[in-house]
This record gives sequence, structure tokens and C-alpha cells, in this order.
Amino acid sequence: MEPLHRVLAPAVIRWDGDRPYSVGFGDVYHGTDGTEEAERVFLEPARFDERVAAAESFTVGELGFGLGRNFALAAERFLARSTGRLHYLAFEQAPVGRDDLERAARASGWAMHRCLVDALPPAITGWHRRRFAGGRVLLSLYLGDVVAGLEDLSGRQRSGVDAWFFDGFAPRCNPEMWSAAVCDAAAALSRPGATVTTYSSAGVVKRALRQAGFTVRRVDQRPRKWHALVGVLPGSWSPRTVIRPPVSVVGAGFAGCAAARALAERGFEVSVHDTSVAAGASAIPAAVVHPRLLGDGSGAASLRAHGYGFAVHALAGHTGFRSTGALQLSGPDGDPSRLERILPVLPPDWIAPVSAREATELAGVEVSAEGLHFPHAGLVDGPAVCHALLDHPRIQLQRGPPAGQVTVLASASRITERFPELEVAPLEGQADLFRGPCLRVPVLGDGYAAPSVSAEECWVGATYEYRRWELGQATAANADRYRRLFARSPAAPVGVFRGTRAVTSDRLPVIGRTDADTYVTAGHGSSGTTTAMLAGEWIASLIAGESPPVTRDVETLCRVERFRERQLRRPNPFARRERVSRRTS
Ligand SMILES: Cc1cc2nc3c(=O)[nH]c(=O)nc-3n(C[C@H](O)[C@H](O)[C@H](O)COP(=O)(O)OP(=O)(O)OC[C@H]3O[C@@H](n4cnc5c(N)ncnc54)[C@H](O)[C@@H]3O)c2cc1C
Repeated sequence: MEPLHRVLAPAVIRWDGDRPYSVGFGDVYHGTDGTEEAERVFLEPARFDERVAAAESFTVGELGFGLGRNFALAAERFLARSTGRLHYLAFEQAPVGRDDLERAARASGWAMHRCLVDALPPAITGWHRRRFAGGRVLLSLYLGDVVAGLEDLSGRQRSGVDAWFFDGFAPRCNPEMWSAAVCDAAAALSRPGATVTTYSSAGVVKRALRQAGFTVRRVDQRPRKWHALVGVLPGSWSPRTVIRPPVSVVGAGFAGCAAARALAERGFEVSVHDTSVAAGASAIPAAVVHPRLLGDGSGAASLRAHGYGFAVHALAGHTGFRSTGALQLSGPDGDPSRLERILPVLPPDWIAPVSAREATELAGVEVSAEGLHFPHAGLVDGPAVCHALLDHPRIQLQRGPPAGQVTVLASASRITERFPELEVAPLEGQADLFRGPCLRVPVLGDGYAAPSVSAEECWVGATYEYRRWELGQATAANADRYRRLFARSPAAPVGVFRGTRAVTSDRLPVIGRTDADTYVTAGHGSSGTTTAMLAGEWIASLIAGESPPVTRDVETLCRVERFRERQLRRPNPFARRERVSRRTS
């Protein structure tokens, strides 16, 4: 069994002109003319153009994502032929690095290939969701062992696969990819009449496909090579009918807005219900988009790393998001081993150790300690991002009660008004805006300091007020943070933000389905800019019949029923409490 969270080494590729060769597998990714080959071997025998033109929604599964060539071609072709949506599920054990992907994208010249380079996920195990073309193309890329990935998908993807592309390295170099177990799993995830196309015509592949139920025939590839294969499952393939009931989302903070946007991009009509946009904690003027990594290899660590990877992709280009990068210094205890523990959680292009001198250069102010640099991190202006997410023709903001057939509750700690058994509670906090110094990037460690847009002020926070604090106590605590960070005292604050986080008893958000038509995304604590973005995609996937963008383990960790189950053994620790009285966030 794979560990829950692991960084994968990048594939080592040697280029012979336009021909990429995998040193690890001892095989080429494709021949000299990759485009023509992808068309001839994978798309044509699957009758891809004809089928997608008739389909409102089409699902492809690919084994061996490689340099993303088949994905980019299929996505471009889909967008040109269909008005519907493509879900592309792909599996890759050895993810390629940015330079190689960039080279492949330059060679193909396809816009989708370029988009993929810009959205390249961190090379960590598990599912990576990417949305392209306003949500019309959805990529679910599983990084890790293909058998584990197929197992993880099993039973969670209600919309079956229409066409498989088997594009792993040759069976002699990579036998696991072509095993009977893999072919069986693919067949089980397919719709009637689904196709499989592959360049390999090896006997072992034919046998495994036949055994899994595919009727297999050879496809003449002369004069390039002898044969490729196409397999078809029993039953007649027909375009999928998509039913999209209207959805009501309660709460217009990060959680509600992210869910509304992900649903609207899937074609759902969405009404969002709140008194105003960003009326709660998401009114925060400068929230740091940072993973708050855990170094324990747990499911929670995986959730944070994946939430971050998805959020920076989903927020990119939206008004209100500034891609600044961020620095993390050791925490209030000054213990550098904390940084050492989290360094291996993300690959080197997502997290890098920096000396005090490098940190000073990045921050634009004197930093006396070494730290970690997160080049993809950024800052969110809460109201601006919420408005930008809701700015979609299929989303309407309403004041009245929800009337949709399906409801998504994103009402933070007020979720307990409807589901009292959920262990979610309010926890107040404050950030203060002080003049100077001119920080270039957010700095985290002992709380955080984040530059305002003009960079003439910085937000310093945040307090966790487990008991009611005296007037001025929060500002004093934030002024202390400022002093420790910048070795001087701030003048009186020029702005204050107070908000109420929704925290859970186990520090994990609540994401999932409660009853037939009600879904929940809440309890995002201090990480709403990351986990709430992923949760929006997750909820939309559940409603649309897609697998969620996380592994089964992470889905289980965040599920709604966990509290009810625990309450069979012990009471709800938050019951009858106004506020959280112990550290839970
Ligand atoms: C001081 C402070 C600093 C923070 N710093 C960061 C940071 O740097 N980075 C980070 O990622 N996160 C940070 N956070 C946390 C972040 O703000 C939250 O995680 C995030 O805003 C939660 O979003 P949400 O949509 O779940 O909740 P909210 O934004 O609170 O939204 C809930 C919404 O539900 C609405 N609602 C409730 N009940 C109903 C109802 N019955 N009907 C209709 N609407 C209803 C409310 O009006 C509200 O608009 C900080 C929080 C605080 C307080």
C-alpha cells in the first residue's frame, strides 16, 4: 500500500530531437511525429470526433499521462467538436518536470498543452484536479501507482469512462500497466460500448483486454508500424444524458462562492443565498494563500498540500488574488526542526530553503533567520475574490430562502443550526494594519505579516481568542508580533479586521453529503483560502457524479458522519458552548 503522501521524483527524459526517451523505463514516449501518432492510434480508432460531437459530456481515461500530449490533443479536439464537457481521468507514476513539459508543448504548439504547463501540479501522490476552458475541460490526474489509482477511483466515479487510451511504456518495460488487474479495473469503470485504444499489439495486452470483456481487433498502422489495437466493451455506446437540477448554495464566503463557481462551470444553475457577499470571515482584506504544511505524512498533510496546489491554480487570474510567493520562518518557539519536517512535503519547485540573506532579499526587510520560500503562494482580498467567483452567468445572488432541488450549506459555524451534531464552532480573531515596513511578500511563522496592495502598510495577525479578550488585547498581541518580526514597535494601527473562523474538533473541514440532496462545506478554520477552494470543486464533483478531487482516505477524513460516529463513544465537545475554549485550529 502506498503511503498517504509522498513526493515523486521527476521522470528523467533524454531528447533525441523531438523524440523524448524515458531513461527510467528505457522506452520512448512517442515517435517523431507525436501529433499524427496520437490521432492515428488513439483518437481515430475510438471514433473520438464522431462520439464527442454527439455527447454533452464525455469521459476519457488514460493510462500513462506522460507529456500530456494525448490530453492536449483530445481537449483541443473536444472543444472544437462539442459544446459539452470533457472529463479526462489520467494516471501517471513518473510525472514529468516543467522543462520537459514546456518542450513538449512548444513542439505541439497546442494552446491546451501550454495551459497544462501553466497549471502543472506539484509532483505529490494523489489526485490533482485542473479546470480549463471555463470548466469545459476537467483534468483529474492521479500521480502514483496506477493500480492504487484505479482502486481509489473504483465506486467513486458515477459517470463511467467512454474511451480509454492505454499509453504506458511498452509491456516489456512496464508490465504492471498492462496487467489483467488493470484491464479488469478499467472495464469495471467503463460505460457499455466503451472503447480502449492502444499503440501496443502485444499478445499479453490482447489477452488481458479480452479477459476483461473487450472485443479486440487490430488496427492497421502501415507503413509506420504493423498494428495497433482497439477494444470495445459489450453494449451499444450512446451519448450520456446529463441531468442538472438547480442548486442553492447557502453562504457567500470562500466556501460557498467556490462551490457555486465549480457548479456553474459544470452547467448547473446556481442561486447563492446570503445577506451580502463575503459577510463572514471571508471579508478578510489580506488572507495568505499558504499550505500550513504538516510534516507527518498523514491524510491531513495530504489535504493541506493538495488544497494549496489546487487553490493557486483555481485562483490564478481572478481579481483579488495576488501571486506574491511567501516566506515561512520558524514559529514562535523558534524551533527550526519544524521547517525541516515540512520541507519534504512538497517538491523543490514548490518549496525551497532560503538563507537569512536570501529571505531578506525576498522580503525586502531585514530577516535574521533562515526559512522556507513558497514561490506559488499569494494573497487574497476576500471580498474581491468572492465577487470574482460569483461573476458567472449561471450564478444568482438571492436574499430569500434556498429553493433549489439540491442544497449546499456553506454557512461556516452556523451550519450547526441545521446539523447540531457537527462539531463546528466559532472562533474569533483579529488582524491589524500597521504602517511600514515595505514588505514584498507575506511572512509567516509567528502568525503572519502581509503587505497591503500599496506595500506601505502590512496586516499583522492573527489572534485566536479562545476566551473573550479585553478591548485592545488583540491589537497589543499583533503589535508584539510586529515587534518580534521587525525589531521595532509599530505606531497605532490604521485598520483592523475582526472575523469569526469556523473550527472543528479535529481541525479538519467538513466536506461531503449529509442526506440525499444536501451537501456541506464548512469548518475551514484558518485555511479557507486553500481548503475551501478544493472543497468547492469536491462538492461540485459529488453533485455531478464525478469522483472527488482527493483520494478516498482524504475524503473519509473530512466526511460528515465522522462526528455522529464519535458521539456514540463520547459527547460532542462543542455542545452548548458559545465559543471554543481550547486550541482547535
Ligand atoms: C483574523 C483572521 C485571519 C485569517 N487569516 C487567514 C489567512 O491568512 N489565510 C487563510 O487561508 N485563511 C485565513 N482566515 C480564515 C478564513 O478567513 C476562513 O477560513 C474563510 O473565510 C472561511 O470561509 P467560509 O466561506 O467557510 O466562511 P465565511 O466566510 O464565514 O462565510 C460563511 C457565510 O455564511 C453566511 N451564512 C451563515 N448562516 C447563513 C444562513 N442561515 N443563511 C444565509 N447565509 C448564511 C454568512 O453570512 C457568511 O457570509 C482568517 C480568519 C480570520 C478571522
